Amino acid sequence: MNNPSSYNKLTPDLIARLAEIVGPKNILVDEGKENYARDESPLATTAMPEAVVKPQDARQIAAVLKLADRNLIPVTPRGAGTGLTAGSLPVLGGITLSLERLNKILEIDLANFSATAEAGVTLNDLCQAIEEKGLYFPLYPGEKSAFIGGNAATNAGGMRAVKYGVTRNLVLGLEVVLPSGDIIRTGGKYFKCSTAYDLTQLIVGSEGTLAVITEVTVKLISPPPNREILFIPFNSLSEAIGCVPAILREGILPVGIEFMEEGILRMVEQFTGKEIPMLGYCAYLMLILESESYDDFCKLAERISGICLKLGAADIFVPNSESAKRNLLEAREKFQPTFKHNGMLETIDAVVPRSRIADFVQKVKEIGQKYGIRIMASGHAGDGNVHLHPLGTEANVPALKDLLTDIYKAAIEMGGTLSGEHGLGFDKKKYLPLAASPEKIELMKRIKRAFDPHNILNPGKVFPD
Ligand SMILES: Cc1cc2nc3c(=O)[nH]c(=O)nc-3n(C[C@H](O)[C@H](O)[C@H](O)COP(=O)(O)OP(=O)(O)OC[C@H]3O[C@@H](n4cnc5c(N)ncnc54)[C@H](O)[C@@H]3O)c2cc1C
Repeated sequence: MNNPSSYNKLTPDLIARLAEIVGPKNILVDEGKENYARDESPLATTAMPEAVVKPQDARQIAAVLKLADRNLIPVTPRGAGTGLTAGSLPVLGGITLSLERLNKILEIDLANFSATAEAGVTLNDLCQAIEEKGLYFPLYPGEKSAFIGGNAATNAGGMRAVKYGVTRNLVLGLEVVLPSGDIIRTGGKYFKCSTAYDLTQLIVGSEGTLAVITEVTVKLISPPPNREILFIPFNSLSEAIGCVPAILREGILPVGIEFMEEGILRMVEQFTGKEIPMLGYCAYLMLILESESYDDFCKLAERISGICLKLGAADIFVPNSESAKRNLLEAREKFQPTFKHNGMLETIDAVVPRSRIADFVQKVKEIGQKYGIRIMASGHAGDGNVHLHPLGTEANVPALKDLLTDIYKAAIEMGGTLSGEHGLGFDKKKYLPLAASPEKIELMKRIKRAFDPHNILNPGKVFPD
């Protein structure tokens, strides 16, 4: 891996050549660059790109990468900038390659249940266009202004992963540009493939370090006829978590199973000014359920209620209107901005085997006490993905590295790992050696070198310095 001083700066001549490739209107070298120097991570320092370049297509991206590769200029791909780990921040300067102009939906193929979009299409626009054609794309991370290319680059997860999986389970193929400037396609509109290495799956989740994603082909399904929510309060988190395997063992497959502490809901209520039902208990499960009809849902709800009440649920709440359902889902979507508003120091999305969630949260609370930092816990109970939010002030910042190290060690000791969906980016890269042996990290670095021998693509990310 190069050290920062081995890269070159953009010269006026290189800037002129970049402007020729993308058009002078589509390059920022002064004003406006600051909008590309932050994302949604709580990272205090921002990093300024030397130039923001906005290509229109894969051909222009290939020309930019060729120029950067020959001149050893770092290139940081950027989607919508909603990432939570500073992955799209140009820590070494150079070019920020914004995908915002690759914003066309290329095809919605009703016969093959697939859609192909350029990387800069927002998830929101993609889902809407697919629904207008009568099909459905189930990916549902909390922020739908993210680009589909960013979702693929981070392997985004979200609240429907129990039934539909995460982004990698929904991506069928990609068009990508390699750092050499070569354009390749991986996968396609088919569902099976045993033809040599699966490059689609290697590039999904590679956080812009292997290739620039320019097109994504995704798998679609028929829209679910009926979607309902169950909101279940408990007097302890361990009782709530204990219900999850019991529900799944009964052959019930909710779309998502979210857990949350009461303190979080109170904060959200205060932040949004919207009342949340059933407050006053310790922990909650929110189950998102799909069924063929409302009658089927009622039968499902009865079975789930039986299981949960037997295992300690204090009550069962079924929102009885579309707006009551929407309010509950919106409350869940507001966790991230609520924490931001309440002194969020970090966002952690460790994963553990789902039966260990309660033990892990208990351990995290003890770690928080050791450092005098309040930590709120919520997450995707159905897939073991625990979201932790240390809250505090500037005075707590020096303790964060040790706090995170202790938390990650606890997750790993329980059979888990660092991140379930947000990635490592810049923020979390220093913790990788806790989760991966030197041999494994060296193998990953060799893969990186095979794609990007001069390490121009998103340097300073994923791998510790
Ligand atoms: C309120 C809120 C809620 C969220 N909820 C969730 C959630 O539930 N689940 C979840 O998984 N995430 C969640 N996120 C995080 C974020 O939305 C996802 O990580 C998303 O996938 C990032 O997409 P983006 O387009 O914003 O990418 P960016 O933030 O711009 O970039 C993220 C990374 O991907 C790389 N990248 C982006 N585009 C490309 C490309 N075309 N080619 C190559 N590399 C690229 C960047 O270099 C960077 O490393 C949430 C964020 C917010 C603010």
